[in-house]
Amino acid sequence: MRVFVLLATMFLFVPGAWAAGAGEAGRIKWPRSIEIAQGELFEVKITGVDLMAVEGRWGQEKIYFYPDGNGSFSALVGADVEAKATVSKISLKVVRQSGQERQTELPVKVKAKTFRTESFNVAPSFDQMTPETLEEIGREQAAFKRAFEASAAERLWEPPFVRPVPHEASASSFGSRRIINGTPRAPHSGTDLSAPAGADVVAANHGRVVLVGNFFFAGGSVVLDHGGGLYTMYFHLSEFKVEEGSMVKKGDVVGLSGATGRVTGPHLHWGARLANARIEPFELLKKISNSGDRASGTKAAVIK
Ligand SMILES: [Zn+2]
Repeated sequence: MRVFVLLATMFLFVPGAWAAGAGEAGRIKWPRSIEIAQGELFEVKITGVDLMAVEGRWGQEKIYFYPDGNGSFSALVGADVEAKATVSKISLKVVRQSGQERQTELPVKVKAKTFRTESFNVAPSFDQMTPETLEEIGREQAAFKRAFEASAAERLWEPPFVRPVPHEASASSFGSRRIINGTPRAPHSGTDLSAPAGADVVAANHGRVVLVGNFFFAGGSVVLDHGGGLYTMYFHLSEFKVEEGSMVKKGDVVGLSGATGRVTGPHLHWGARLANARIEPFELLKKISNSGDRASGTKAAVIK
């Protein structure tokens, strides 16, 4: 099994390798390049027998690597839903137990993805903001910005991630481009899950509650910090079951679903953010190794 996994890894990622200085200490392997579509995740693995630390940076953002047991380190990398389709580089620094450091660059190709376009009209009164509404929206933006500023350095989550409600995604899915009254608007930055009002909404993984509040667009909102720049968000809640600053475990109820904020009916908007990239939250179920739930679509969410 080990051999198979290793071979599969080598085959898929065409790893590069630094020759070991001397002796048997082995080689350090990492993917030679990676490809991510807009809104998707990639788990980067660096393997080697005597690794002590791995540091990464992609543009302005730090990439957090964590040891995953048998000497390897892994990190999640995510491409924003509107990331430019181009090739850029992650700089990597690998530190061996001897203190020896090596640096390299890992090319990342971001691929454009085709998203649905939704075009609809709303009454002008919904579309033309009063000064009071604009002020509320400003408060909402500031609150979220603050919540995203101080992610825990340690990884709080453990695989697998779980779905916050056991229901299906609705038609209005992640990334859809919205044209309202003829004007292009921000793409849909989460996945809408159908949920009757009053259903339990659970934490997708362990984390710290960094935001609880009521807002113009998002309605009743809870944001969880899972550490290393990874957040999940739960919007349009009718009730909160957690307080800002508290720690939650995977599967804990954070609130009840509802129809608060700018919605047409009760549902859960589930969002995820990694290093300031808006990503499709189902990627957390699909792309994280050892994930028990391979996003088969119908499994129950809660694993206690
Ligand atoms: Zn939504």
